[in-house]
Amino acid sequence: MKPETKVTLPDTCLVDTLRKVFGFREFRPDQERIVRAILEKKDVFAVMPTGGGKSLCYQLPAALLPGTCMVISPLISLMKDQVDGARANGIRAAYLNSSLSSEEQALVVRDLLSNSLDLLYVAPERFTLNHFQEMLGQVNISMAVIDEAHCISEWGHDFRPDYLSLSALGKLFPNVSIAAFTATATHKVQQDILEKLALRNPFIVRASFDRTNLFYDIRFKENLSEQLVTLLKSNPDKAGIIYRTSRKSVNDTTTMLQAKGFRALPYHAGLDDDDRKRNQEAFIRDEVDVIVATVAFGMGIDKSNIRFVVHADLPKSIENYYQETGRAGRDGEPAHCTLFFSQSDIPKVRFFIDTIVDETERARALGALQKVISFASTSVCRRKTLLEYFGETYPRDNCNSCDICLGTREVVDCTVEAQMLLSAIARTEERFGATHIVDIVTGSKNKKIRDFGHDLLKTYGVGRGHGKKFWRRLIDELLAQKVIAKSEGLYPVLYLLEKAVPVLKNEATVEMMRVQEKKTAKQAGSGQTGTYDHELFDQLRALRKQLANEQGIPPYIVFSDRSLRDMATLLPQSAEDMLSVSGVGEVKLQRYGRQFLNLIRRYREEHPERK
Ligand code: ADP
Ligand code: ZN
Repeated sequence: MKPETKVTLPDTCLVDTLRKVFGFREFRPDQERIVRAILEKKDVFAVMPTGGGKSLCYQLPAALLPGTCMVISPLISLMKDQVDGARANGIRAAYLNSSLSSEEQALVVRDLLSNSLDLLYVAPERFTLNHFQEMLGQVNISMAVIDEAHCISEWGHDFRPDYLSLSALGKLFPNVSIAAFTATATHKVQQDILEKLALRNPFIVRASFDRTNLFYDIRFKENLSEQLVTLLKSNPDKAGIIYRTSRKSVNDTTTMLQAKGFRALPYHAGLDDDDRKRNQEAFIRDEVDVIVATVAFGMGIDKSNIRFVVHADLPKSIENYYQETGRAGRDGEPAHCTLFFSQSDIPKVRFFIDTIVDETERARALGALQKVISFASTSVCRRKTLLEYFGETYPRDNCNSCDICLGTREVVDCTVEAQMLLSAIARTEERFGATHIVDIVTGSKNKKIRDFGHDLLKTYGVGRGHGKKFWRRLIDELLAQKVIAKSEGLYPVLYLLEKAVPVLKNEATVEMMRVQEKKTAKQAGSGQTGTYDHELFDQLRALRKQLANEQGIPPYIVFSDRSLRDMATLLPQSAEDMLSVSGVGEVKLQRYGRQFLNLIRRYREEHPERK
């Protein structure tokens, strides 16, 4: 029964399947090579970023090869989504896990044994069961896939002991390809996976981790609530995640946004299971736009149309930042990642790090934090820094898709103001904290100032021309540039470092990044958006939502944002036109084509001026 011979396919066949089944015109980088290797029954190990298009790499062979492709995946919550997605393209897919009743499981097993499944998702716990493996002996397995393969590595962040049994796969399926996929990039994890899985002379792919459709933006955190409101207003009706560190801040931000009329819900481990599930579901189904969440949110979310991710507090590490921002724009459409950064957030994180008992772990956390701070406070292309972190060299000088490269940050000379601060610090003998120093330069009349006689200082009130916010920011900047430093402890004081001397002597200048609030990078994206009819897009979205509700699947499974944008650009008039829309294959055309074409036709009649 098993297809023993090497499958050789004419070049056109693969692209033909890609077009007919998935509605895509071309492969993404690496996809084709992986698909070919699998069809040649070679083992594969592929590291691809989130949104890189891993599922197509095995779903396409699954559609082509006789027999069933078995996917072992640890994320039970994602299986239904993956299966819905595959079925929407006409692939015969099912999953077996503990969320199904025994009757439902029996039906899946029946389909499996009668060779009526192209694709079967199972959890590793099930795969290890003896009777399950015995049953597999009666099935024509076309290939085996290990998704989220980093779970096999103790160095990967979600190590799962069940995954260790997977090294037996090769013995179980000596004649088919075993393909392992992960988005976890470090070389250490890669090595560990390769050893533990015992793949046979595998074809190894490390795709670039550059997420070209993501825009990276770091802003100075000044008045977070206002900044978030502005950001949401410039992204109306778009899906986004706002990450915050603590449960309390998640709740506060959600309440604030709801009061301003935004459709936002909270997500954190303190909510009970039902509420958490309900909120997640509402987000996935486009019923709310924004989810405000701790980092507990995101694992097991496949929503492809997330248009922005905000870090309202410092991420734990560069790796975390990359993974969390990576949830934006899985569909390849432009998406925006904004980090609101303030030096004053650092002590809060340090406080938590200090509570870590294990010494090595504490040092590691501290090192990771330091890297995040330097990432946020230097003027090097964000993309370059991120990629270098993963050992990749970014070949271009300007990525055109981050705040640094677009020059949306403007440098202003603040030497005179810096001198005022430094002088205030020096004249008070480096014994006071930031608040008091700011009170001195802005000429505050509070009791502490009077008690110390600081209203008599030469620097008292010299900085009235700027608000307190400006001065706090300049202090942050001087801290970041290591002109001054802050002592440890409960009442940290500011003191001068060596670099302060030339500044005071007018031998060195201090520059501060100023964010041009108006020229947000909203239009910047990565230049892929082009012009499309927004009114039509909104109507298409509404239809997508209605159909998704009727079928009990998430809207992005009906059509991706990319597909809708193509429709709103091309205004297709026939089934044939519709097939040239990205993501519209034969099955989706049959299933939804008529309704979308009708909508577009009506729209054209109502707006004859638009083509
Ligand atoms: P991953 O599992 O690697 O995170 P997915 O398999 O979910 O990524 O794919 C991400 C998105 O990219 C999906 O919306 C998918 O339909 C789309 N996609 C995959 N391959 C292609 C392609 N060749 N052309 C256009 N879109 C693609
Ligand atoms: Zn850049």
